[in-house]
Amino acid sequence: ERMAGHLPTCLKGLDNALCGGIPFGVVTELVGPAGIGKTQFCLKLSLLASLPSSYGGLDGSVIYIDTESKFSSRRMIEIGYNSFPEAFHAEGMAQEMAGRILVLRPTSLSEFTDSLQKIRVSLFQHGVKLLIIDSMAALLAGEGVQGPQRQHSLGWHISFIKSVAEFSRIPIVVTNQVRSQSRDEISHYSFQGIHWAHAVSIRLVFESRSGQRFIKLAKSSLSPPLAFPFNITSSGISL
Ligand code: ATP
Ligand code: MG
Repeated sequence: ERMAGHLPTCLKGLDNALCGGIPFGVVTELVGPAGIGKTQFCLKLSLLASLPSSYGGLDGSVIYIDTESKFSSRRMIEIGYNSFPEAFHAEGMAQEMAGRILVLRPTSLSEFTDSLQKIRVSLFQHGVKLLIIDSMAALLAGEGVQGPQRQHSLGWHISFIKSVAEFSRIPIVVTNQVRSQSRDEISHYSFQGIHWAHAVSIRLVFESRSGQRFIKLAKSSLSPPLAFPFNITSSGISL
């Protein structure tokens, strides 16, 4: 079996910069404005994690936490047929792929954490190769309490998510929407608090400049972030 240290994305330059793709065992955040392609990227990652290895996938299962009911299995299968035609034209593959992606719609952060707590020990053994939370903000928004208590509660849940990534050695990808860059991004992080900044190992910033979409690898505030262009077509996210 192939070494599962990274989940390759469909973007070569990004994979090179990430030393192979989305790393296992840590939390990766996708951040950007509405409609930029965060969910499209998650759908593609889900396919790449669950495709049989003979077609270049990781042959695993995926847990997709769909907090805003934006997951579309129809769109996912469309991306599958167009990106991996050989695989998807094989008998029964579309159904098989759909069966490997478990979509959950928890109604609260606590409900999500409780169910994750029950399965966290067996994630790796059950061949889960990707956990997606799309989006994180919607999950956190449901936490009722206010003020310092709220910060404490969010901090606990966020640390728990990070510990699940470390313990189960699977990649966890979470999305967050910001209205625009810079000012909004700052308010976004102060809203989620310091715990959030510490829990995330890799941040991919999605943005659009002069009609071209980019993913920026914003790992460090010291080095200038690398930007990789992408398009969204019938095959989903592509170069
Ligand atoms: P939000 O923060 O609101 O969830 P998002 O970043 O998740 O936004 P996506 O839903 O991933 O955004 O991207 C939506 C965009 O994907 C659409 O605006 C459209 O440009 C593109 N798109 C969706 N389906 C197709 C398709 N079949 N063909 C081409 N482009 C598509
Ligand atoms: Mg989305």
